[in-house]
Amino acid sequence: MTGGKVYLVGAGPGDPGLITLKGIECLQKADLILYDGLVNPLILQHVSSEVERTCRVSEGCKNRRVLQQDEINQRLISAALEGKTVVRLKGGDPFIFGRGSEEAVALRNAGIDYEVVPGITAATAAAGYAGISVTHRAHASAVALITGHEDPTKPDSALDYDVLANFPGTLVFYMGLHKLERIVESLIQSGKADETPAAVISRGTTPFQRTVQSQLSKLPEQVRQAGLVAPSLIVIGDCVSLRDQIAWFEQKPLFGLQIGITRAEEQSETEIKRALELGAQPVLLPTIKIDAPADWTPVDAAIARLEEYQWLVFTSANGVNYFLNRLWDTGFDARKLSHLRIATIGPSTAEALQRFHLRADLIPEQYRAEALAAALKPLVKNQKILWAGANRGREVLQTELAEVSATVEKIVVYENHDVSAWDTESLKLLESGAIDWVGLSSPSIARNFGRLLTEEARQQLGRKTRLVSISPVTTQAASEAGLTVDAEAEEYHWDGIFAAIQRNVSP
Ligand code: SAH
Repeated sequence: MTGGKVYLVGAGPGDPGLITLKGIECLQKADLILYDGLVNPLILQHVSSEVERTCRVSEGCKNRRVLQQDEINQRLISAALEGKTVVRLKGGDPFIFGRGSEEAVALRNAGIDYEVVPGITAATAAAGYAGISVTHRAHASAVALITGHEDPTKPDSALDYDVLANFPGTLVFYMGLHKLERIVESLIQSGKADETPAAVISRGTTPFQRTVQSQLSKLPEQVRQAGLVAPSLIVIGDCVSLRDQIAWFEQKPLFGLQIGITRAEEQSETEIKRALELGAQPVLLPTIKIDAPADWTPVDAAIARLEEYQWLVFTSANGVNYFLNRLWDTGFDARKLSHLRIATIGPSTAEALQRFHLRADLIPEQYRAEALAAALKPLVKNQKILWAGANRGREVLQTELAEVSATVEKIVVYENHDVSAWDTESLKLLESGAIDWVGLSSPSIARNFGRLLTEEARQQLGRKTRLVSISPVTTQAASEAGLTVDAEAEEYHWDGIFAAIQRNVSP
């Protein structure tokens, strides 16, 4: 055995939340991740390892070389021989109709150490999200997972349709969409009743999930009419009828909508989760990027003179994180702040503070600089305030508080930079009008969004793609950038943006 190791990990069926805890732990410790086309790229958002997509078919894999299974095996082996921890990430479960077991054989033959981390397979997951229990007690006492890849009319098919037609339970076909008609015909010819309840679930567990349900004999026609696409599962059996009673996923409030998230990518985790929770597909359209300051000297100098200040002010969660981490990294801790009162601009900034076990003394009612200045005013006469913020931002605090002779000294604890271009996939979605809503969550984001728009994308605005702003100040900035905002949040945070979309979707 060598120093390296390969983990054959199941990524689950599509919903990025449906990967196991053990799978995530493997991703976190991997040096290299090879993932296949069924894996939702959102799973890979927060891994720092080297990541490569492997393509075994050219479809959906433009600009990438199609790899043969042997080449993938070789890649796993050679990376492990270099001593790397490698994750082979595969859609669903790696051993269910994935070639995980072939990879395991190749690894064993090469003397490479490996582990298998099972995943949630499409059959149970897509069915569950479509409101179908494949083993419901009253309807099925067995379930068969079947490949639909083989042509049932070929004499050398390994599948015996007479046996399948008489199977006492639910039939689930993987990889069968393009052979649906022949599968259905063969089953009926072998004696399966025409009216057996059946369904095809396309892109199960994602916001693009679509389910067509019908009696078996009519399924191919209905699926053709609906234009369902791969990956799709065929589920056949009485248990399908349960869906009428217990379907749930497709009823989520923002189900099927695509929502552009314009925050810095490294900060979009909560919004991505929230969009998915509401049934929507988040599309990353970051307009800004967050970095540590190029120069820490002014921050360190302010930390050295902290006793001169009476107040410490934060106007973003980033400000809190960057400042307090710097305090720690330079050898101090929270005791250094014991004489200070702390103000935050809003609840999420206060929450960031709470993660360091610090309590905000002041949070204004409204989440905006004017409200923060107004709340501070009666408390800070002749005092010195340290404001840990970004390189850009409005000067409201300084001017407002100068009126009570308070000095506000700003230190830049992180930098906001404009993104110069979007990822081509996301831009394509925007240009084709596939994105339903884009959330603009600050004035600088609104301005950058306007700047990054291509002509094609701009033409979709107000038609297919609508804009929702986080606050009146942002709406104003958007309009100065020539953008028309279609909805505005009542509460000035991302949940307010989602709520505004919801109001517009189901008024
Ligand atoms: N290892 C995977 C299956 C790989 S075979 C697993 O355990 O799920 C690929 C087939 O899986 C597709 O042709 C389709 O039939 C099915 N499949 C995968 N993801 C799916 C999804 N999200 N919705 C419906 N079917 C899916």
